[in-house]
Order: sequence, then C-alpha cells, then structure tokens
Amino acid sequence: MNLILMGLPGAGKGTQAEKINEQYKIPHISTGDMFRLAIKEGTPLGKKAKEFMDQGALVPDEVTIGIVQERLAMDDCKDGFLLDGFPRTIAQAEALKDLLANMDKKIDDVIHVDVPEEKLMERLTGRRVCPTCGRTYHVVYNPPEKDGICDKDGTTLIQRDDDTADTVKNRLAVNIKQTEPLLDFYKQEGTLITINGDQQITDVFKDIQKQLEK
Ligand SMILES: [Zn+2]
Repeated sequence: MNLILMGLPGAGKGTQAEKINEQYKIPHISTGDMFRLAIKEGTPLGKKAKEFMDQGALVPDEVTIGIVQERLAMDDCKDGFLLDGFPRTIAQAEALKDLLANMDKKIDDVIHVDVPEEKLMERLTGRRVCPTCGRTYHVVYNPPEKDGICDKDGTTLIQRDDDTADTVKNRLAVNIKQTEPLLDFYKQEGTLITINGDQQITDVFKDIQKQLEK
C-alpha cells in the first residue's frame, strides 16, 4: 500500500499517520525524518542537502527527489509506505510518479484529511502553552482546570506568536495555495481520497480505513 497523506496544519495529520502506521505496518516517511536520516548516514545526497540547509537555502528538487528515491528503495518500504510532506509541488509529484514507475510501483491512494479553514483557525489559535513546564492546552478541546492557569504548576498560560490569528491565517493561506494544485493533480490521477477531518480522531481513522479497504 503506497500512500501519500495530505492536510493543512492543524488537520490532525500526525495523529492519523501514527494510526495508519500501526494498523498497516507501513513506515511513516516525513520529509524532515528523511533528510535527518540521509544526513546522519552521511550519504552523498545527505551531504549535499546539508550544505544547502547550513546556508539556510532551499534544498533543490533534484537533491530532495534523490533522497526520496533512496528512502523508498529501503527494505522497510517493500510492502508500502506513507509519505508525509512530499510532494509539495507538481514537479515533485511528476518526479515521484516517474521514480516509482522505474521501481514498478505507483501511488495507490492519496489521503486528504479535509477540515474547513474556520475550524483550523479555531484549533490553531486556541492553543495555549505553559512557559514553565511546556505543557500545551487548548481553550476549547483541552482546557486547564482553571482558566488560563497551568494545572501542573500554576503558571499563567501564554499564546505563542506562531498561534496568533494573523500568523495562523497567513500560514494557512500559504499552505492552501501550495496544496490545491496537488489535490487537483491526484484527483486527475484518480487516487485522491477526501476524508472529513472535522470529527473525532477515531471516526476520522475509521473513514480512512473504510476508503483504503474499498
Ligand atoms: Zn506548567
């Protein structure tokens, strides 16, 4: 089962990735992990990627795609994989299609965890964090016992700059612009599965299972 997982920040992708990994025993391959592994192993491509990253520059597609190719050729991917955070562009999606074709493989399903933008705003801007112990809360979904106060140590909770309305709105807009062409691409490929992510975590996963096992 060769899968891609897509969804905007706050859609609950990470949680679903864990569940898919447990249920189907396929590795969850996030772009960050992939780069870290290649750099740690000191592969030629890992070294190249590190040079760009050390300069704070974007890693060029040819390097990224090479790293993906190396990762997907590893033994643990022989029965499938779950890609997360790649591809990000149509060019990368085309390259992925080609490299899989060369391995006699293809993407079976692209899982899009879909949550309305206003719900994502609510999820992301409701986060509060304790500056003392780092524990995180949510004003609606996971509130502390006493409003605005950490349960553990009584510290006043704060909202990180990343979680303020303006920042979140911006981050979502950038992500929407980036994902939309990809969703269209996979729709045309006939592999796109849209899952309603605006429900309980377990129900989201049930829907994913239902669709995958169709
Ligand atoms: Zn605390």
